[in-house]
Amino acid sequence: MSQEPSKPKCLACDQDSTVTPLIALEYQGERLWICPQHLPVLIHDPTKLVGRLAGAEDLKAADHKD
Ligand SMILES: [Zn+2]
Repeated sequence: MSQEPSKPKCLACDQDSTVTPLIALEYQGERLWICPQHLPVLIHDPTKLVGRLAGAEDLKAADHKD
């Protein structure tokens, strides 16, 4: 283990846990973090995370109807 894990920060807005709670995710073998503000984006609009999250363009939005 030569590499320190990077400091947890939201994958969407880069806020760290000093300013917002962070929720841990496991994705493609990597540990990722997201804040509550962006969790709905990941669930409902993951393509907005293209460029921030590898493969986001292939993620499907949760299908739910109000
Ligand atoms: Zn965020």
